[in-house]
Amino acid sequence: MRLATVSGRLVLLPANGTGAIDVEHATGGRFGPDTMAALERWDELVDALQGIEAPAEPIEPGQLQAPVPMPRQLFAIGLNYADHAAESKMPLPPAPLVFTKFPTCLTGPYATVELPSDNVDYEVELVVVIGRRADRVSEDQAWEHVAGVTIGQDLSERVVQLTGTPPQFSLAKSYAGFGPTGPALVTLDEIPDPGALGIGCRVGEEVLQDGNTKDMIFGIPELIARLSHVCPLLPGDQIWTGTPDGVGMVRTPKRYLAPGETLTTWIDGIGELRTSFVAASDHKTRD
Ligand code: ZN
Repeated sequence: MRLATVSGRLVLLPANGTGAIDVEHATGGRFGPDTMAALERWDELVDALQGIEAPAEPIEPGQLQAPVPMPRQLFAIGLNYADHAAESKMPLPPAPLVFTKFPTCLTGPYATVELPSDNVDYEVELVVVIGRRADRVSEDQAWEHVAGVTIGQDLSERVVQLTGTPPQFSLAKSYAGFGPTGPALVTLDEIPDPGALGIGCRVGEEVLQDGNTKDMIFGIPELIARLSHVCPLLPGDQIWTGTPDGVGMVRTPKRYLAPGETLTTWIDGIGELRTSFVAASDHKTRD
């Protein structure tokens, strides 16, 4: 099942075919249009949408918004792929390195994003979305609490991030539009093993990252177990599970995103994001 948000309304994207099925209309009002409210009733929602037959209305891809528009908590994991830790010249973390992207940074799969400077980097990430509240759950119980997965692009302003000690992960990764997600929240019945998916991003034909989620240091069940032993995880909450190697800041010369470029971010079985960039009105050139 693929859930998305169009014009602020929860929709189901049909498995075969195009367009979108409005969930409020298709369920006869059992669910309203609000995605966050529907996620709160995850089991009931899956039940209601199982095998539902309703006409799909045509949509333009550009109408798709962030599938989960405003999660209450967004956890992100730094240095969760060994090859990315190595290219960053950082030791492997002994425990997950956790920061947040403030949820106002979230945007849709085909967004145009303003670049505040010439120092904005890309990080493709598999994003896990919680469906059932998880409070101190074990690794064995972890998947039962997952609604599905989506793609995230963890855009990062590296000068803001790396000025001073310790670094400013959360702020530097939370400019408006720095969290493209989508194209849909894909439930686990469509993704046999989220821990073995090709994952990458490119600008035109220039492949920037090309990895596999099997290379995570802390896998999804362990992340859910560890996080839920500190914070209860709530329906709609997101875990951004880290990025493989290939980021722009460690290249010589650095490879940052420029106005006019379009970044395609993909994960096998989920789809792709296409993010276009323009200069912000207060855009700063490289230091
Ligand atoms: Zn990241």
